[in-house]
This record gives sequence, structure tokens and C-alpha cells, in this order.
Amino acid sequence: MKEETKLIQNILSDPLTGAISTPIYQTSTYVQESPGVHKGFDYTRTNNPTRKILERLITDLEYGYASLAFSSGLASIDAVLKLLECGDEIVAVDDIYGGTFRLLNLYKKLGISTKFVDTTNAEKAISEISNKTKLVWLESPTNPTLKISDIKYISNKSKKKNSKILVVVDNTFASPAIQNPLKLGADIIIHSATKYLSGHSDVLAGLITVKKPDLYEKLKYIQNASGGVLSPIDCWLTIRGCQTLFLRIKKQSKNAFQIASFLEKKKNSCIDKVYYPGLSNHKNHLIAVKQQRYFGGIVSFSLKNDTIESAKKIVTSTNVFKLAESLGGTKSLICHPSTMTHKSTPLKIRMNAGIQDSLIRLSMGIENVEDLIEDIDQALK
Ligand code: PLP
Repeated sequence: MKEETKLIQNILSDPLTGAISTPIYQTSTYVQESPGVHKGFDYTRTNNPTRKILERLITDLEYGYASLAFSSGLASIDAVLKLLECGDEIVAVDDIYGGTFRLLNLYKKLGISTKFVDTTNAEKAISEISNKTKLVWLESPTNPTLKISDIKYISNKSKKKNSKILVVVDNTFASPAIQNPLKLGADIIIHSATKYLSGHSDVLAGLITVKKPDLYEKLKYIQNASGGVLSPIDCWLTIRGCQTLFLRIKKQSKNAFQIASFLEKKKNSCIDKVYYPGLSNHKNHLIAVKQQRYFGGIVSFSLKNDTIESAKKIVTSTNVFKLAESLGGTKSLICHPSTMTHKSTPLKIRMNAGIQDSLIRLSMGIENVEDLIEDIDQALK
């Protein structure tokens, strides 16, 4: 079966009742026949049938061995970082998601340090690996300048340099409809399922998918010990959202390409740079062509008048694009990274990552693209 069919067919109807929609097992505990004798479920922090269905679903989508569902994307990232010990090092993409940057700062206090590198330069990234490096942490595309790293090349070369290294890919911006990092040599995939997987801006969720059983056992232990599991109702919302993933990603990528092309034409007036991996002038376009099935639903751009004030005027002038944090939902969103998502990122790091004062990020929804273009056009005027 093709991926879109498999995704839908893998959500089985309930064997007890025939219910075609997954039941929400809203329970904290389960009746046991005698101590330790039960139907595979004893306490919802450890196991829940609705969560299990979601975990199976994402495992199939990402071609993994097994998955774990968490209460947020950051809770899943935190679980992966708990695999490390004092003295271990991480080599990470330099314009990493701001929340991951903040969390890595907390781990620094526990003796786990991170070297931030521009992983679009694969050789440079690999040269930073030492015998203390335990994780290589990639995001591709990155937020908000949509840099693309060569996951296959970096995974292979990293493991050649240090066979114990685990390559982690935060696949939030792409989603499994666009790329499958485990197939490219990564060991662990992270998702903020809050974004494209749930897809309707109505749930906070995180997912980890791993390639091997031993990693699953370790992370399962960490999850059960730490407790940040996804609630049954949020598992159900994520399962429902996932079913339209391919439809949404196709439409959002199409909308994004058209918006990016429209903005490109405005370069002779008010627009300075346009960031979209689908444009042939994007710095990493060729890697995107090789690695991705679609170019994704995010477009960023900066203004010739590179000030916070001019960007603020635009983000408060759109009607269809709503001014809000987050991305990946059915409704189009606009955001100003310097004063919103990346507010807590130090200025020097922000500038190095290309996040100019006037940079604006658009998350495409599934609306008619003519309305989206008209909205941006009138805001730019
Ligand atoms: N990873 C990326 C790339 C993100 O953009 C986000 C949130 O914006 C996260 C992780 C964190 O996810 P959550 O907000 O679900 O905790």
C-alpha cells in the first residue's frame, strides 16, 4: 500500500465494538485478575490503549521500531537528553528551536555541554565531533530561516567518526509526509506533534520514534520515571489530526510555494530576502530536492527597511494570517521571530542565525492561496 493508504488503514476499528473511530480510554488504572495479572495495562502513566494506537501510528509513519507519546514536544526532547551523563557533549544545529536552546542551557548546569554549529556545512559539523560527543542534534528545515542539513551524509560520517554517536532529528518542521530521517541513517526522531501531526492548533503533544529496541527500552524507562505522558484525549486528537497529514502538507506546500514566488517578485520594491527551500535560489535547495518529498508550509522573509517597527506594522495588518506563535495548523499564521519565538535568544546568536529585526515567518494554512496573497499584498502596502 502507498503511504497515504497505509496511514488510514493502520488505524483499526475497535475489536470489542466495531467502533470505526479510536476509543478514548479515559482511565488512570485497570482492574487486575490477581496481583500483576492483567490485560497488559496496569496504570496509564506506563501504558494506555489510546496512546498505544498513536504510538503505533507514528512508528509506521516514520519507519521506526517503536514510539513514545509525551505531553509536549519539549517533554520528548527532555526525555532524550536524559539519556546523557555528566561530561557528555552534544553537537547541535546552530539555529535550533529556542525552547530546545533554553533546555540545553539547563542541562549545561548538569555538566552536559553543547557545541552549536552550522550543520548545513556538513564537514564543519563532523569536525566538531569528539570522543565525548554522544548526540548529534539536527533540525531540518530550521526555524525560521529554513536551513536544510544533509541528514544522510551527516549520519553516516558521524558514525564513522564515533560509532557510539546517536543522531537525533527534530522532524517537526518537515513531518513524516516530507521526510523520514530514520531511513536516512538517524537513530531518534523528535516531533512537536503540536504542529503538523495534530495539525489543527488544538493540542500540545510530543513524540519520539526510535530505530532500535534498546533505545526504546531506555526511553520507555525514562518516560515512566519522569511521567510526562500524553493524556488519552490528546492522543485521540493527535490520531484524528494525523489522518489528514498528507492532504494538508500537499496543500500547505503548494500555498507556500505560491506565496514565496509572490514575495520574490516584490524584491524590487520592499522585500529584502525570501527564505523557502522550494525556491531554486535557496542556499540549500539541492539538498531539499534530494531529501524532501515536498518543500513544506513555512515561508520567511525580511524587509528592505530592516527595523522591528516596520515588521510590526506588517504583522498587525494582516487579516487572514493571524498573528500567533506556533505553526503547522489549518489556519495561516504570521509571526515576528525577534519579538516572539526568538525573544529570549541572545542578539548575537539571533543575528548569526540570520534572524534580522524585520524577519517575518508565515505558516501556511489550507485556505485558498488567492486570499493569502491578497492579504500579504495589502499588508505590504
Ligand atoms: N521543536 C521544534 C522545531 C519546535 O518548533 C517546537 C515548538 O515550537 C518544539 C520542538 C517544542 O514543542 P512543544 O511546543 O510541543 O513543546
